[in-house]
Amino acid sequence: MNEQRSSRNDATSRRAPLAIARAYAMRYLFAALAVLGLSAGACEAHPWRVVILPGADSSQPAAQEQVRAIRSAISAAAPDGVEFYTDPLDDLRFDAADLMPSFLALMKRKYEHRPVDIVIGLGDFALDFTKQYHDEIWPAAPVVISSVGDSRQHDIPSGFIYVPMHFDLDGTLALAETLQPKARRLVVVSGAANVDLRAAQRAADTARARKSHPWTVDEWSGLTVAELQRRLAALERDTAVLYTTMYRDRNGRTYFPYDVVAPMAKSSGAPIYGWYPTYLGHGLAAGSVASVETNGRVVGELARSILLGKAPRQDAMASSGASRCVADVGVIERLGLRADLLPEGCELIDVPPTLWREYRIVVLIAVAVVLLQALTIAALLWERRQRRIAEDKATERLGELTRAGRFALAGELSASIAHEVGQPLGAILSNADAAGLMLRDEPEVGELHSILGDIRRDALRANQVVQRLRALLQKHTVKLNPLDLNSTFDEALALLNLEARRRRIVIESHLAAIDTLVLGDRVQLQQVLLNLAINAMDAMEDTPAANRIVSISTRVAGQGYELSVADCGHGIPVGTGPRLFDSLYTTKPHGMGLGLSIVRTIVMTHGGHVSASAREGGGSLFKVWLPSLPKRAMAGARLELDKRAEKATFETRPEPQGGHP
Ligand code: ADP
Repeated sequence: MNEQRSSRNDATSRRAPLAIARAYAMRYLFAALAVLGLSAGACEAHPWRVVILPGADSSQPAAQEQVRAIRSAISAAAPDGVEFYTDPLDDLRFDAADLMPSFLALMKRKYEHRPVDIVIGLGDFALDFTKQYHDEIWPAAPVVISSVGDSRQHDIPSGFIYVPMHFDLDGTLALAETLQPKARRLVVVSGAANVDLRAAQRAADTARARKSHPWTVDEWSGLTVAELQRRLAALERDTAVLYTTMYRDRNGRTYFPYDVVAPMAKSSGAPIYGWYPTYLGHGLAAGSVASVETNGRVVGELARSILLGKAPRQDAMASSGASRCVADVGVIERLGLRADLLPEGCELIDVPPTLWREYRIVVLIAVAVVLLQALTIAALLWERRQRRIAEDKATERLGELTRAGRFALAGELSASIAHEVGQPLGAILSNADAAGLMLRDEPEVGELHSILGDIRRDALRANQVVQRLRALLQKHTVKLNPLDLNSTFDEALALLNLEARRRRIVIESHLAAIDTLVLGDRVQLQQVLLNLAINAMDAMEDTPAANRIVSISTRVAGQGYELSVADCGHGIPVGTGPRLFDSLYTTKPHGMGLGLSIVRTIVMTHGGHVSASAREGGGSLFKVWLPSLPKRAMAGARLELDKRAEKATFETRPEPQGGHP
């Protein structure tokens, strides 16, 4: 087909210069006659007179568009204006042979005394008419012919100028094959007018000749629209419909072909293809369409060049036959076909609005934002995880550090502990010896009971000290639980009192007589008090015996509780400042400089703060503030603590002493 087309085009291009040369010769002869006064126009400048013979009714949209393009191309360069005479025969719907004599008479009459400058014939009838009667009616006017069927090209006289208008049947069929690769049945629909039948025949022949796709072709020609609709409705989607033209049905009813597209598409179960631009938007699925507007412009420009005596542009003539792919996405998608299979560059119409099509940029931005958010969230989660890991590690280290600190504390308390354990053990020994002596003589049972009771009491006392020490040194994971600060500090005071006694220091404790509930770790909070109190005792080494007092108190302060540890020692060295709480800062010869830094870390872990200041009247004052348990958690926590205390009392209650009152 392409080969055929190119050979035709070659013939056209070979013939065109010759015809154009003749057209110029006629044009100049005509102009000379006009100068000699033999023509109606005499010497006066007159507007160009252009006769247009459209084959179709001039209200048919395609014809309208074509004629409008011709007129505007010519008018654009007319020095004295243009008189257009449009004489359509409409042989597409009427019998041309029947009308020919009357039409000839009319044309002769009309142009008898009105010489024209050029005649433009569009369609088969225009070719036949001008070929036969041109010399009689417009002897001097050049003739331009377009819109004739491919098979009629060889009928065009050599003196006529031909502008090709090729309908891309192959391209349209190729589109059907692309959209429906599995379809094998092709229904060619046409009317019953001669022009319809010729187009249908050409379409069927072209389809059968296609090597790339084995079509089985059915020809439905001349059916009434109702019958056509019935048949189309029964078609499956794997059939393709090729609609050529329908100017007349077999009952003689006439149409403009584009009128039939909408009713066909409404009923058809299969997609409809065609190559006329006027079919698009009425339900045609796709087609390789020729532009009648482009053709009209090229014809008009050629006519204008002849009228101006200029050489026409050959490339412009070739472009008049060009077709382009146009597809109706709405129709294609409605029929379940895939628009994405269409060749690249295909013009898409009736694209159904989708979020993606309508708001692509907005959607892209939204997706980018969501992605960014997701990334940010992922990064935050990762960071949070890393922070958790780091926090866990820090807590672990803190646990190790505070435990090391407690070992150091135990070292400091070891003398008093040894004393506190040694004392009851000594008493136990003496009591055991006394009981032994009594047993040699006649023992008094009551006395022996009393001795055994003493032994038991002393053993319990020693055991309590050991238990407290064990609790302090035990390895445990830090857990924040609701606890009462006062009772927590009470336990620590028991250990401190031993040491204080050894150092001849008085500990004055004033614990607030209220619930002091906080969320904390018992062992760590005890460590805070022990560290501060041991430091206070250390600071009073050189203090006169009468002034050796450590005051320990708790009180409500804002939304929490405050622990104060005050001493009458040497006071905080001048210029120490915040360094006091730095690890490894010490002024003691055998100090490690860890006590206060551990205190600060523990207090901060509990959401509190610690400060040091000089005490009025000499010595130092350390204050620790800890947040209280939220009010709503108080009642539950109190209940839980009471239960625990009850259990502990039951477990440590001394055994009844065998009948001794
Ligand atoms: P260490 O007791 O091993 O020196 P700490 O961190 O417990 O380590 O104490 C750091 C320093 O803070 C001490 O060396 C001392 O100079 C000072 N300090 C701590 N408590 C007191 C206090 N109650 N009175 C005066 N100075 C103190």
